[in-house]
Amino acid sequence: MSAKHALVLGAGGFIGSHLVRRLKREGFWVRGVDLKFPEYSETDADDFIVGDLRRAEVCDLAIDRRFDEVFQLAADMGGAGYIFTGEHDAAIMHNSAMINLNIADRCHRRNIRSVFYSSSACIYPAYNQEDPDNPNCAEASAYPAAPDSEYGWEKLFSERLFLSYNRNYGMRNRVARYHNIFGPEGTWMGGKEKAPAAICRKVAMASSGDAIEIWGDGKQTRSFLYVDECLEGTTRLMRSAFEGPVNIGSEEMVTINGLVDIVAEIAGKRIDKHHIPGPTGVRGRNSDNRLIEEKLGWRPSQTLTAGLERTYEWIERQVRKNG
Ligand code: NAD
Repeated sequence: MSAKHALVLGAGGFIGSHLVRRLKREGFWVRGVDLKFPEYSETDADDFIVGDLRRAEVCDLAIDRRFDEVFQLAADMGGAGYIFTGEHDAAIMHNSAMINLNIADRCHRRNIRSVFYSSSACIYPAYNQEDPDNPNCAEASAYPAAPDSEYGWEKLFSERLFLSYNRNYGMRNRVARYHNIFGPEGTWMGGKEKAPAAICRKVAMASSGDAIEIWGDGKQTRSFLYVDECLEGTTRLMRSAFEGPVNIGSEEMVTINGLVDIVAEIAGKRIDKHHIPGPTGVRGRNSDNRLIEEKLGWRPSQTLTAGLERTYEWIERQVRKNG
């Protein structure tokens, strides 16, 4: 029997490059598409197109056959330093919406049935995330909509886009809302990195007794999901009868100060915190995993510390390599 074919859009990115590796292990023939090759290791894809998915001709080239599974992860994104400053709003909305409009349409016209779309916890209303101890991120709380960033608004639009293709064209697209995914081979410097990577880098560069800079008072809460768990949830959802939207995240909520303490302990260093003004996003956010457990009979199980150990080890190696 010939191998199943998968298409990973955003295959040069953090989650996409891990997903390609996983699909290869599962026996798929895989094509990846991205503006760039993965930064930290060779791609495992059988075929890789370096191209801009905002352009129709690149989408035609990429979607030239009936793939069994398409994973649409390409997006103009970054951490709080990219999303919340406001400077990139127009680019984020234009670039990501353009990609999603192109992909939904091309896949429909190729008679592809299944597109997985990675939405985000950033779609949840800011008004439900003001209390750091009790954020509400149940799927049904998404409306009335009030995301705190244009990135979140674009994700909400594109969720609806992919699900409308299900209703009108009989597709079986799947939508997940990722909550802060982290792990080795993710962006760790340069301005687009997220909190776990930024904190691992700062701790790796610090000596015991040093203070590292933290944006805000550090009392804002978040949860973080290790990339392998994210892929487990992603592939399970793709092959299930449930279309979503559903959270894929961890329910182990920590403060940013608490995250620093865990990383410092892993590093074996005494680290002080110097709080400075900076973009922080909502006060509290945590995944709510009741729906995924009900629909898929699965929820992530690894601890935050276990994932951070692997991530810190990788980032410390990068810091040493980069002098
Ligand atoms: P990433 O930035 O590492 O990967 C996205 C990839 O898309 C990048 O490699 C980028 O080059 C590519 N891309 C951007 N514009 C493109 C274009 N015009 N044409 C082709 N490729 C283009 O991000 P990631 O962390 O791997 O996230 C993957 C997806 O999951 C994104 O859609 C993101 O919004 C979503 N998501 C991620 C998280 C997280 O915590 N990492 C949380 C919520 C949602």
